[in-house]
Amino acid sequence: MGNVYLTGAGPGDIDLLTLKAYKVIGKADVIIYDRLINPDILDLTKDGCMLVYVGKENGRHTMSQDDINEVIYRNSLKYENVVRLKGGDPFVFGRGGEEALYLHQRGVEFEIIPGVTSAVSAPAYAGIPVTHRGIAVSFRVITGHESKKKASQIPWESLKTDETIVFLMGLHNLEKITTKLIEVGQPADCPVAVISKGTTKNQRVVVGTLSNILERAKDVPTPALIVVGKVVELREQLQWFKQR
Ligand code: SAH
Repeated sequence: MGNVYLTGAGPGDIDLLTLKAYKVIGKADVIIYDRLINPDILDLTKDGCMLVYVGKENGRHTMSQDDINEVIYRNSLKYENVVRLKGGDPFVFGRGGEEALYLHQRGVEFEIIPGVTSAVSAPAYAGIPVTHRGIAVSFRVITGHESKKKASQIPWESLKTDETIVFLMGLHNLEKITTKLIEVGQPADCPVAVISKGTTKNQRVVVGTLSNILERAKDVPTPALIVVGKVVELREQLQWFKQR
């Protein structure tokens, strides 16, 4: 029985791959990967390495999480080095915890290789520090994608705050997010940035406020995240990464 490496691939820029991830990718017998993986990373594999795609297309799952868990498990019975490669960090909205639990329950050994999360690195490439002395003493990372069938678990009332708020998976809910934040008492002119394809050569950053970002960001492609808070204004001076 092999070892499974639940590995973060970083946000897009291949140079943000960790050295540890680079090493296990190089010795992998099989790579089980998601949609957001930079394809150049798959070129780092050795000859004969199997590539198994388990991503989603247009919001449609090609595979359920249960099936993905099973694919990882079955490969661990066949191969010595199984790399489960996930965008960003495997434990930040990556369902890496669920996969690790499944392996634990089946007695399969695994290692977690953290990755550079988009939640912090995409803002950094946009010239936005998620904390800044005198502006934001903390930051929160929140899912922008909740089941429509269940009541929201997001503590909206607590988001009337000076903290930086980063929403992942929230672009399609941008209207709901901005409306809710204004409803709970955030000023309508609170700065907002939408960062699309962060850290890649196709990175696009749109800056506005809670009241106008919806209009400004309407054509922005995914993956994208939303940064809310005064730190967004620092981009004017800290913008360093050239966008197309
Ligand atoms: N585990 C990942 C997040 C998975 S959820 C991580 O740590 O980064 C997927 C969401 O992450 C996307 O909907 C988007 O909001 C965000 N995301 C991932 N890569 C991104 C990128 N390069 N630029 C902007 N947002 C990104």
